[in-house]
Amino acid sequence: MRSSHVAAAFVLVAGAAVFGPGMSGQAPQGGGSAEAGFTDTPLVPGTAYHVHDPSRPRPAVITPAAQVGQPPSDAVVLFDGKDLSKWSAVTFGTASYTQGDAPAPWKVENGYFEVVPGTGGIATREKFGDLQVHLEWAAPASRRGNSQNRGNSGLFLMGLYEVQILDNHENPTYADGTAGAIYGQWPPLVNPLRPAGEWQSYDVVFEAPRFQGNTLMKPASFTVFINGVVVHNRKPSMGPMVYRDVAKYQPHPAEGPIGLQDHDHPVRYRNFWVRRLGGYDGKPLE
Ligand code: MG
Repeated sequence: MRSSHVAAAFVLVAGAAVFGPGMSGQAPQGGGSAEAGFTDTPLVPGTAYHVHDPSRPRPAVITPAAQVGQPPSDAVVLFDGKDLSKWSAVTFGTASYTQGDAPAPWKVENGYFEVVPGTGGIATREKFGDLQVHLEWAAPASRRGNSQNRGNSGLFLMGLYEVQILDNHENPTYADGTAGAIYGQWPPLVNPLRPAGEWQSYDVVFEAPRFQGNTLMKPASFTVFINGVVVHNRKPSMGPMVYRDVAKYQPHPAEGPIGLQDHDHPVRYRNFWVRRLGGYDGKPLE
């Protein structure tokens, strides 16, 4: 207890030293000012910049959407309500996919697109590594079937790493196969699903795995929100999705498509956009 009181007092004093002169309009003590920044401060560990360094690159300015959930100005819009030109047909295999140039065989109507059962999956023509993706989906209101046989589809990052899409609202199934599950590995932290027929939103931050030759340097990881509720918090994936087996990594290219699964159910999608995810100071993530 005693040491935490000391720490709190230190923070208050430091705050007064930094903000005092700027707020009162006094001249800086040297090495900068509260308005311009400072160069006589310690380096931020792991960077080439001083604390409050005026030469540190400022973040790119983008325009947010008028409504949260709509695409900001730097998003790649993957479906604008009209056509599936950004997508093509794909066949998902065991920890693999085969994508050709054939048009996406799914249906577009009334501002959404819908799985046409039996036609196979679709994937984006553009490939991505680290990303933020937003999409909205709705399971058939009919609520036909049970467990995995009800409103089943799936979101595949890099064509390999699946976040499950399923109508398990009042429809029990195995935990690592519920909506939001990293399929076959990790159930979501909670189940915030709405009833079938209603739109559900997914927001996913995905970090691609890193390989050096045949060695895995960093696993893929997922941060996932369903309907605004966090269900995975930077959760490492064990490897590409496999069925009734334990996932394992195989080296693959640094970028891959975003895929959607045809699991024989007419699941609908709308408002689908993605942003490439960089790191601080405009550098790639490490
Ligand atoms: Mg699925």
